[in-house]
Amino acid sequence: MKSLQSVRGMHDLLPEQAESMQRLVQGASDVLAGFGYRLIQLPLIEQFELFARSVGEHTDVIGKEMYTLAQSDGDPLVLRPEGTAGCVRAAIQHGLVRTPQQRLWYHGPMFRHERPQKGRQRQFWQLGVEALGMQGVASEAELLLLGASLWRAMGLKGLRLEINHLGGAESRAHYRQALQEWLLVRADQWDGEIMERARSNPLRVLDSKDEAVRTALGEAPQISEFLSDAERAGFAELLEVLRENDLDPQVNTHLVRGLDYYTGVVFEWSSDRLGAQSAVCAGGRYDELVEQLGGQPTPCLGFALGWERVMLHLDAQAEAETEAAAGDSRDSAVDAVLIPLGEASASRRAILMANQLRTELPGLHLVMDIGGGNLAKKLRRADRLRARQVLLLGEDEMERGVVSVKLLYDAPPQGQFEVAQGSALLEYLRTSIHERGSG
Ligand code: ATP
Ligand code: MG
Repeated sequence: MKSLQSVRGMHDLLPEQAESMQRLVQGASDVLAGFGYRLIQLPLIEQFELFARSVGEHTDVIGKEMYTLAQSDGDPLVLRPEGTAGCVRAAIQHGLVRTPQQRLWYHGPMFRHERPQKGRQRQFWQLGVEALGMQGVASEAELLLLGASLWRAMGLKGLRLEINHLGGAESRAHYRQALQEWLLVRADQWDGEIMERARSNPLRVLDSKDEAVRTALGEAPQISEFLSDAERAGFAELLEVLRENDLDPQVNTHLVRGLDYYTGVVFEWSSDRLGAQSAVCAGGRYDELVEQLGGQPTPCLGFALGWERVMLHLDAQAEAETEAAAGDSRDSAVDAVLIPLGEASASRRAILMANQLRTELPGLHLVMDIGGGNLAKKLRRADRLRARQVLLLGEDEMERGVVSVKLLYDAPPQGQFEVAQGSALLEYLRTSIHERGSG
């Protein structure tokens, strides 16, 4: 009988992956506790209406990506596509937003019916954090520094931080209108999908992956021109605080989120190791969401990171580090190539020297360079042997009783230096053998 397979885009986490995710979650939960966050766990199934009212009807998530469960006796349900809406729903339902502040986190699977590819599944795991009842630069800086602390704890290196300010309700409405007018005047330039977004949700056009559209948008009105003085000052201060704390945020005025509930500061951490699916973590401020879902106005902010992408980044990073380490220590059987230069006497002297070194150091892997050509050609020959270094013996060296050592693979490069012939050279090469043995 034909064996059954997992559903397309939904993957098993085999013990090795499941355990490594578990370890990462454990590390993250320590960091989160340190920042005052408490765990909350939420249902996988919610009402369709929750997401329509929060994520927004004119978004890809609602329009195309929802797994909807029809019910014969009630409103449709959905498999949750993200965690913020459910978390805010729970906070309102249980009165958590009435207490002045809440720092909450959760993790678990999310579901989106997207085209599966590397770093994009239909069931994926997220860790989300939500800070409810907080406004101002301090809360935004804390959220971004929390992200940086998580990356440190998990050993993720080299993530890029992009940031933007979408404005509060008023400035965003003005911007939305200006952008929409700009887009509609140029209707002949856009395809059907862009036109549809331009009419229903113009900010989403900024998110287009189409190169031509992105270039054209260079001329479009920028949100930064529409921010109020207070918003502009807050954003500038946030950037300053982040830089003061060793983050390097890049302002990207086209950064918008795929979920409509964002207001104010939004950001994305991304990786150069993941190809097209580069975003590892994304979030921002959502000051209007609690009210939209029936609670009292409450300023909030949060982010979600994708575990599969975190793990893909860590794998790619480990692979690159292993390669770099192999390059550094020159994963090679040849300790050195001895290159006589110029005079025939150098060749005689080199034969003598090689013989002595091999006798004194039985473990030494020393290759004599034999054959003509200039120095560059000889170095290329040594390089093909994957030698760790060359010992150059020319007229000048012979006169002064030294050899010139050139390391072929060292980081950072130390260039060329001299070692006296005799016992100093023996000692130097003994260390080289030892490094090969331990490297
Ligand atoms: P993308 O632009 O890659 O579709 P998004 O803007 O839809 O991402 P968010 O809704 O902000 O993503 O979710 C936060 C994080 O969750 C993303 O940065 C990513 O790491 C992860 N994520 C989102 N969708 C998927 C998916 N289909 N498969 C795997 N991870 C995902
Ligand atoms: Mg998406």
